[in-house]
Amino acid sequence: MDEATATQQLVVDLQTRGARLEVPVNTMGRRGGAGPTDDKPFVFDGQVVMVPTLADFVGSSPYAVREHGGGYVITRDGAALAPVAFPPRPRFYDLSTADGVPYNQIAVLHGTDVLATTIVQTCIRWNSDADRCRFCGIGISLRNKATVPVKTPDQLAEVAAAAVRLDGVKHFVMTMGTLNEHDKGARYMARCVRAVKAAVDLPIEVQFEPPEDLNVLAEVKAAGADSIGIHLEAFDQAVRERILPGKARTSIDHYFAAFRRAVELFGEGQVSSYIIVGLGESVESIIAGSQRLVDIGVFPFIVPLRPILGTEMQDVPAPSPQTMTSIYEAVTEMLERRGMNHADTKAGCARCGACSGLPAFAAGRSVRAGRQLSVL
Ligand code: SF4
Repeated sequence: MDEATATQQLVVDLQTRGARLEVPVNTMGRRGGAGPTDDKPFVFDGQVVMVPTLADFVGSSPYAVREHGGGYVITRDGAALAPVAFPPRPRFYDLSTADGVPYNQIAVLHGTDVLATTIVQTCIRWNSDADRCRFCGIGISLRNKATVPVKTPDQLAEVAAAAVRLDGVKHFVMTMGTLNEHDKGARYMARCVRAVKAAVDLPIEVQFEPPEDLNVLAEVKAAGADSIGIHLEAFDQAVRERILPGKARTSIDHYFAAFRRAVELFGEGQVSSYIIVGLGESVESIIAGSQRLVDIGVFPFIVPLRPILGTEMQDVPAPSPQTMTSIYEAVTEMLERRGMNHADTKAGCARCGACSGLPAFAAGRSVRAGRQLSVL
């Protein structure tokens, strides 16, 4: 395997070590929420990368952002490294619904062109000390009053239409806490998708746990969802039981049955699964599990653990850049062999890619011949 390019190394380093903001840039960062949070979108070298800027470990990162010639630069140990830009505050954030809910409490911009929402900001698992996923901050933004507990289909449709009209968003990722042990919330998700699709032409990714009855996946597809994320997070059952004890009661076999059914319905490359590096699973297990996913047409969306402030894992160190690089290289190679690329996903996290280094590694393989990071 070739050595990682300078851009790939910078992406991996920034995602795992974070960067201090030494200047006020704007308010696009997000704190709390489901999945990787406390991050800010950095735009550099033609890509968008979500970078931790708030967590405690960022204090010891060699990376920072400072002003430079009317713009911004990323610095390493104080030396200017690469120009960086930050998406402006979206215009739809200035609006509120007729009943007075600010639009940015209903959905937010991720990256530069993705609208994102957690349609139900509570979770049966998060509400139980025994069952809670140790890394998840879904209840934190609710506690901070940054969002509302349940978004209605009409609210989502109204905000999505405005985000397309005012800010040109290109796709929509809709995730949720788990509502119950049966459909897990998928039928409510389907209602929301139907309402958004009736209001605006926007590709949508849905994310939820595998329903007990996999026929529910067909209902979600029929409602208009384009892509789907069903997140396993780890392939090692002992790690699942320790880190995501509630979700771990659903067997890995059931997840794979859901993946296969979802690929039949949504197509190869339209189904993805978040795999979080840094939960205690070995590199070998992650690579072998990712190969199982790729073999059935599912995109393993590899991300480093980003310890979220206020969660039980807030002080757990992020995985090392070397660990991330070895996994990204192996998974990029298997995706290429299968002919899968994140950019072929119609909507959602795989298409956006800003939380993972996989897009940088895929791009690096196609332009390996001599492309360098644009340095100052
Ligand atoms: S990869 Fe997913 S969670 Fe990360 S910024 Fe993009 S849409 Fe948001």
